[in-house]
Amino acid sequence: TMAHSKALLVLENFIAGKFVPCSSYIDSYNPSTGEVYCRVPDSGKEEVEAAVKAAKTAFPIWSSKSPLERSQILNKLADLIEHDLEAFAQAESKDQGKTITFARTVDIPRAAYNFRFFASSILHHTTECTEMATMGCVHYTSRTPVGVAGLISPWNLPLYLLTWKIAPAIACGNTVVAKPSEMTSVTAWMMCKLLEKAGVPHGVVNVVFGTGAKAGEALVCHPDVPLISFTGSTLTAQRITEKSAPHCKRLSLELGGKNPAIIFDDADLNQCIPTTLRSSFANQGEICLCTSRIFVQRGIYSEFLKRFVAEAKKWKTGNPSDPTVDVGALISKEHLEKVRGYVKKAQAEGARVLCGEGVDSLALPTGNQKGYFMLPTVIAEVKDESCCMQEEIFGPVTCVVAFDTEEEVIERANGVKYGLAATVWSSNVGRVHRVAQRLQSGLVWTNCWLIRDLNLPFGGMKASGIGREGAKDSYEFFTEVKTITIKH
Ligand code: NAD
Repeated sequence: TMAHSKALLVLENFIAGKFVPCSSYIDSYNPSTGEVYCRVPDSGKEEVEAAVKAAKTAFPIWSSKSPLERSQILNKLADLIEHDLEAFAQAESKDQGKTITFARTVDIPRAAYNFRFFASSILHHTTECTEMATMGCVHYTSRTPVGVAGLISPWNLPLYLLTWKIAPAIACGNTVVAKPSEMTSVTAWMMCKLLEKAGVPHGVVNVVFGTGAKAGEALVCHPDVPLISFTGSTLTAQRITEKSAPHCKRLSLELGGKNPAIIFDDADLNQCIPTTLRSSFANQGEICLCTSRIFVQRGIYSEFLKRFVAEAKKWKTGNPSDPTVDVGALISKEHLEKVRGYVKKAQAEGARVLCGEGVDSLALPTGNQKGYFMLPTVIAEVKDESCCMQEEIFGPVTCVVAFDTEEEVIERANGVKYGLAATVWSSNVGRVHRVAQRLQSGLVWTNCWLIRDLNLPFGGMKASGIGREGAKDSYEFFTEVKTITIKH
């Protein structure tokens, strides 16, 4: 065990409006130094039981508040997060390894905006009504909150993705038990400190920290949690589906991707190259929407590759708290080894690594020598059937391959088990439209990446998920619908 010379940050569960210590804890690492700096409750059945009980108790009061009352509370919470934006950004960067710039400009602003967005959208839903004049009837639908929602989130965009679930769940009048990733729990714990001030009644939001196998599974198996919203890997989603099946739970599953970028020879490379660099390497490539298969039409393949690699080499990797750094640390030692392993496999298969891992050297500041860093890596001449082109790598690694025809590239882009996000680059609007229509992908960005309107559905096809999230979709997921018929 390590010498606890520096005071460790110790988190506590948040149940029924109170912070409660846990009987055992797990170590949490600072990915940029490799040091343990925080202890996270290792919750299990008992803690989950207490949290579910608190959420059940709070449900009758919270669910009977008007949408406007709930909206005001959500807006207040958004204000409080924005007020502490810098502290949240620092904490997210330290806990996750992401750059301070990314945390400041993406993670935390979006976490606040998630509350603001659902505070607004909850005021504008309408239900359906049909008239059956010959029968003297009107039919209408009514929507009510479901009960206690179980929310499970991953480590890549910790507060961003957790609030993307908490906000719609409570806006709709549910109460929640949330379980963040055991590797990135700090910002969720910080948010709990703001709930009372925002006016969130005790028990409406409960957060139980711990591992997936213990705390996560206890939540999934709890008979009083009728719906589970999960974001994470496809493998975990399979397990959650199995475990929740005996209870017939409602599931929303946002899973992994193996996202293609399709670049036609009439693409505007001045826009395409910087955007494709971001889509490949932003947040160390640890975004479910990151590009990891780049298909470039043969006529521009060598020009693209040359410019893309030259630009990738300019991305600065290092201390995430340095605002000039573009690539921070990966989440864990194990994950870094896994990502490196893919590069080695590609090399063994005869692919060419053009920059990054194993090719360029990485000079790290003294304090970061034991951090989990890796340079943006570009691999060319990879076969479509290679694991590097089939499996989600979830790191700063992208593969570039050539294609000839539109028909061919659609088939190859669709030739993986995933279907989350795709980008298409071309100045021919007809082509862009045709290709977008045929891609098996929940999201298609043409001539751009990551521009989101939260009103519209978000989610994946095939192994990338079940269900969608967004203004209307989340409202439908987090409410139970009833059809009522009135006859005169
Ligand atoms: P993960 O599946 O390992 O873990 C996600 C969460 O599930 C964590 O909180 C974990 O503790 C919990 N968990 C693990 N096992 C569990 C079990 N048996 N029962 C209940 N909960 C359990 O995923 P991760 O490694 O944290 O995150 C990376 C993955 O998330 C990638 O595959 C990525 O593509 C995906 N992701 C998807 C989206 C999306 O919106 N589609 C967004 C971000 C990340």
